[in-house]
Amino acid sequence: MPVTAYISQSALRHNLAQVKIHSSSKIIAVVKANAYGHNIKYVIDALSVADIFATADITEALTLRAISNKKILILADFYQKSDIDIITKNNFAVVVYNSQQIKWLLHTTKEINVWLKIDTNMHRLGLSIDEFNNYIDKLTQKNNINIDAIISHLHSSDNDEKSVLAQLDLLNKTTINYSKIPKSIANSGAIMTLKQSHLNYIRPGIMLYGVSPFAKADNNLKPVMTLVAKVIATRKIAKGAKIGYGQTYTVDKDTNMAIVNIGYADGYPRSAISGTPVLINNNICQLMGRVSMNLICVDIKNTQVTIGDNATLWGNGLAVEIIAKYSDTIAYDLLTRVSAKVVYKICQ
Ligand SMILES: *Cc1c(COP(=O)(O)O)cnc(C)c1O
Repeated sequence: MPVTAYISQSALRHNLAQVKIHSSSKIIAVVKANAYGHNIKYVIDALSVADIFATADITEALTLRAISNKKILILADFYQKSDIDIITKNNFAVVVYNSQQIKWLLHTTKEINVWLKIDTNMHRLGLSIDEFNNYIDKLTQKNNINIDAIISHLHSSDNDEKSVLAQLDLLNKTTINYSKIPKSIANSGAIMTLKQSHLNYIRPGIMLYGVSPFAKADNNLKPVMTLVAKVIATRKIAKGAKIGYGQTYTVDKDTNMAIVNIGYADGYPRSAISGTPVLINNNICQLMGRVSMNLICVDIKNTQVTIGDNATLWGNGLAVEIIAKYSDTIAYDLLTRVSAKVVYKICQ
């Protein structure tokens, strides 16, 4: 049996309901990166009460268009004039974030829905304030260009409320003469902590999948993905033995070990250190030694484990935020790296 990612529909609904408890703004459900690794086609039904779906690129937007009639916003993939044809033909909306795109737009007669992005000092994508002031009237004067909203993106909503307030303030000040145009800046971190940032549209991503944007898991969210592999061998290892590639881990007593059929080829992080928790039969066990391509070694202590038992790597009973910490990364990274060889199953 390959590794299985169970995708909980009730957890998705629960998390979207949590979003609605936090905010009454319109909801852009962010489903980029194949729905944060959850598989776009297994999440959109449960997220159907959202107002808009957002994808990273045109390819994902086309995948989504084939299975959904909802409004689709493309966040970051408009880098040639010909993209305008695909965007308009499929009735996508597109984030516009630099002056080159605007020059193309000013020369098209096609009707296009634009989300104009301002850089409020994340210094990645977005028009500078000067560029915004220079172009906004030219764009609004063109009848075929619909400015659906003016947006910006937060750089530290997970750990720095002051910076969120400063970015929000800059967005509000810059757009003060355009109060009729809707605005959006809040991602999950800001949705959960700062009501005044919600504006007209909120853009939840990670929280929809039941994962906290902060370092610690949030009890009000329910994990959507549970990643499950199988115990394919058990054995006893004598005190002093070294385990696995590089022999990086030495057992300090006679140890019961299970071998589980997941590795970095499935998306389990190779950076996970010895001691990383693995849930087997509801008992917290511990990773020993290096993660191999298709296998891991687990200290099962004195618990009863039989070949064929399930091992949960993250999800129900074991927050992915914890595994991220042991792997020196963030939950976003782990979820989006689940590999194509993993089998996805919908569950309630
Ligand atoms: C990914 C993304 C989001 C969602 O961020 P989360 O932290 O996952 O909630 C919102 N807006 C934009 C522009 C994004 O790229």
